Amino acid sequence: MEDSYKARGLRRKLISIIKQKGIANPKVISAIEKVPRHFFLDNAFIEHAYQDKAFPIGEGQTISQPYTVAFQSELLDPQIGDKVLEIGTGSGYQACVLVEMGVNLFSMEYNKPLYDKTKKKLPAMGYRPVLKHGDGSLGWPIHAPFDGILVTAGAPVVPDALKEQLKIGGRLVIPVGDDKKQKMLLITRIAESEYDTKEFDNFSFVPLLGKQGWKK
Ligand code: SAH
Repeated sequence: MEDSYKARGLRRKLISIIKQKGIANPKVISAIEKVPRHFFLDNAFIEHAYQDKAFPIGEGQTISQPYTVAFQSELLDPQIGDKVLEIGTGSGYQACVLVEMGVNLFSMEYNKPLYDKTKKKLPAMGYRPVLKHGDGSLGWPIHAPFDGILVTAGAPVVPDALKEQLKIGGRLVIPVGDDKKQKMLLITRIAESEYDTKEFDNFSFVPLLGKQGWKK
């Protein structure tokens, strides 16, 4: 699939929408401007790729709304070269936005067919985050500690494993709530066993499954 003049124009329009909604971090904006979101959608939805909406990606899962991707990326606020773990690779769109922001990205996906599909697709687009099929509610201990962890599925509670895999000063961005809506949390590890939690708006994500997530 080709990027095109038309798609680039639509991305610039999308940028003005997310800026109006309050996104200001230039690194986030330039990453969204670069990543061709239409590559990540199934054919039926390609023409809607640059609407600020979530869409189905198969297996009952969704690609997050661009504003949500931008909001989470802005809260995570990674520096170039940071080691970041994403939970919920899904289509790989959020992963590629983080790669464009210059992070060293690790991303986990629990759903095997979706993992297989995205693992094939991303290198073909020139993106090479480190991917793993597995339960991200337990984190990825052999690569820990992380500068940042970003969870793209709604959790019932903050998994202890994820807090424990942050560096001191590291940031965890995670939506926590019930099956309908979740509050976005930014948790910063300020000392070995001390965390600061800030609360933001409500969002609506697909459920985080697994040992420290919702039971199937
Ligand atoms: N970041 C994705 C959004 C995908 S939706 C994108 O940009 O497209 C959330 C994803 O989290 C789904 O693909 C779902 O299968 C996955 N997921 C749910 N529970 C998980 C877990 N415990 N570990 C890893 N991935 C999980």
